[in-house]
Amino acid sequence: MSSRTNGLVIWSPLTHGTMFGSTKLLRPFSAVTRVLIWDIYLLADTERTKAARLEDVVSVVVHESSHQWFGDLVTPMKWDHAWLNEAFATFFEYAGTSWVEPTWRMEDLFVVEQVQVAFNADLKGSHAMTSSTTTPESVSATFDHIIYNKGGSVLRMIENAITPALFKESLQHYLKVASEDYGGSVDPDTLWDAFDDILFPPPNTTVAASLLPKNVESIRDVTHEWINKPGFPLVTFTRNYTTNVTTVTQHRFLLKKADMDADNTTWTIPLTYTTASQASFQPRDNLMWFPKTEQSVEIPQDGSKQ
Ligand SMILES: [Zn+2]
Repeated sequence: MSSRTNGLVIWSPLTHGTMFGSTKLLRPFSAVTRVLIWDIYLLADTERTKAARLEDVVSVVVHESSHQWFGDLVTPMKWDHAWLNEAFATFFEYAGTSWVEPTWRMEDLFVVEQVQVAFNADLKGSHAMTSSTTTPESVSATFDHIIYNKGGSVLRMIENAITPALFKESLQHYLKVASEDYGGSVDPDTLWDAFDDILFPPPNTTVAASLLPKNVESIRDVTHEWINKPGFPLVTFTRNYTTNVTTVTQHRFLLKKADMDADNTTWTIPLTYTTASQASFQPRDNLMWFPKTEQSVEIPQDGSKQ
């Protein structure tokens, strides 16, 4: 981010509250009504600017535009939950750019630019997406690959698990409730309550039952460890070629085996897989849940869950 600060800073008043740029430390309480853009993001020429640079320009503008909703319309009460701004802005950085430039394959770039970077940042004992901030230094330190890259990746995982349509409906409900009922000041409970309103509507409907693990009563049951614990699970599929049963196990991945052996964190994981006989690679094809309460789950030969 620092190289970007060498550019020309342009401030201009707008009628709608928006901040463009990477002055990220200002943002969680940003009731601002101005735009800030570095000149390098204004000087793109579609005839002469390289494709990678154009992607950078568009995705940065989309990221910062997303802060109109996730940062300005609603904003976290505490710096501890800064991911409520940055994870969503990162998520929409790709989704929004894909909407205007579908040929750029932003969904594929997401894996390379966000998911892989998040893995790398999260394998040496980092902090959780929600982490305590008590000093200006700790606030600054929390704006790292965990709340941006991991945050965006976790949201993408949730979107794929519950379907894009319900993810969108849940977010629309969140923004409405948070802005109208809570004055725009939010914490993760505001977000998950809004998701639960959509996923767990009154009795006699089965929205959640068809999507989430049977013992889950709130989306929090799925998201808790992803948001509040550092790290990520290593998922191992082991096939028994005699019984044709595949056993799936999980363990937190860390660089040192001794550290892995000492850590018992488990996650509720949405898993998808494919087989030679059912080759399919859509996000929800063969979706199965790996509950955090289980040490292992099994997939019989026919691919059904046990
Ligand atoms: Zn941002």
